[in-house]
Amino acid sequence: MDFRLGPKSDAFRAEVRAFLDEHLDEETIERAHQTGTMHSREFHRAIGRQGWLAATWPAEYGGQERDPFEMTALRDELRLAGAPTDGMGLSVIVCQTIRRVATEEQKADFLPRALAGEICMSLGYSEPDSGSDVASIKTTATRDGDEWVINGQKMFTTLAHVADYVFLLARTNHDVPKHKGLTMFLVPLDSPGIEIHPVHTVGGERTNATFYTDVRVSDHFRIGDVDRGWDVMTVALTFERGGFGLSEADRVWEQAVAWAKETRRPDGSRVIDDPFVRERLATMRTNNEVARLLAYRTSFVAATGGLPGVEGSMHKLFYAESMTSDAAELVDMLGAEGVVQRGEDGAPVDGWVEHLFRHAAVTTIYGGTSEMQRSIIAERGLGLPRSGR
Ligand SMILES: Cc1cc2nc3c(=O)[nH]c(=O)nc-3n(C[C@H](O)[C@H](O)[C@H](O)COP(=O)(O)OP(=O)(O)OC[C@H]3O[C@@H](n4cnc5c(N)ncnc54)[C@H](O)[C@@H]3O)c2cc1C
Repeated sequence: MDFRLGPKSDAFRAEVRAFLDEHLDEETIERAHQTGTMHSREFHRAIGRQGWLAATWPAEYGGQERDPFEMTALRDELRLAGAPTDGMGLSVIVCQTIRRVATEEQKADFLPRALAGEICMSLGYSEPDSGSDVASIKTTATRDGDEWVINGQKMFTTLAHVADYVFLLARTNHDVPKHKGLTMFLVPLDSPGIEIHPVHTVGGERTNATFYTDVRVSDHFRIGDVDRGWDVMTVALTFERGGFGLSEADRVWEQAVAWAKETRRPDGSRVIDDPFVRERLATMRTNNEVARLLAYRTSFVAATGGLPGVEGSMHKLFYAESMTSDAAELVDMLGAEGVVQRGEDGAPVDGWVEHLFRHAAVTTIYGGTSEMQRSIIAERGLGLPRSGR
């Protein structure tokens, strides 16, 4: 089998590397890690100007019609470089959904600005009591003439403090089963009545709790039909679990190997010569390779006209779980100093292993928890009976 992505993808990869050399500096990467906000407005705009937010889109929308393997190369390089790309990921999910379900007027209003990187989107689905079971949300939108009045609270609204819009799921009908009374809105985040409070995660990322008190939006901001928000969510979720290709685990593995080669123990031996260290690094490298191939498989399914639902879950589950266990092994490998954080004196591997250890745990939660991914694989992939959800 030939696991390479092909010459077209290799050529694009080279183009992306040259772009990153020019547009991504250490200061931008470090600022993202310091603040936990994995977004830079300037870098996001540069990507948008380059046409890469719409890289796979048809030319009629200003897209470049690149194939999923080229997209994988783009994502690989962004991740290897440590670029802050949350805004890119979230905006593309919303844009892909708008393209499929919104009116022509809405597409003309939102898509050109979003794809040019001039505006950034966030996702407002989860609430304090509704995450995995997101259809049970309590935030309401009530019709008042040509306007909707939104009241409620959302949890984990990542990037709300720097984004322009929140793609917000609200309850519009209490008299029908929970999935049938929801509607989606694209709410401008500068609307009166919105409060944004920071939430700092153990993984170093900043996300937000967002509060909505009598927030008014016109019907123009309703995406999809009234009470059919679940259909819109279903479309949006398909784009959330696509393959990521290379990940931060690949970047940290490279950094850990370099450190082990150049660091000597008190007896003068190189760390890399310790068989215990080599075994751990080899295990992680193997897992990273499996994760990458699972990601490429989702690209392959998409490239051949399929919807990679189960494949996306398989990749997300394996990537998050193996990264969690491998990061723990690497922290052990570093010994007591392994818990010294980035920015503190004496942090081995510049603190990146310790950071991965904390961040890996968070990846098992967002975009659907590992348990939810297991249920999807069991039910949709293996045809097992539904769990108690
Ligand atoms: C850093 C971060 C960023 C996030 N960003 C966003 C964002 O931008 N927008 C947004 O809307 N949301 C976001 N989320 C929310 C995320 O999608 C939810 O946290 C996630 O879906 C889990 O929901 P929950 O936290 O309510 O946990 P719960 O759903 O309460 O789950 C608690 C535990 O129970 C398990 N569980 C729940 N139901 C089942 C079941 N049926 N079968 C088996 N096990 C089950 C879960 O796996 C988990 O272990 C983010 C979360 C994090 C941590």
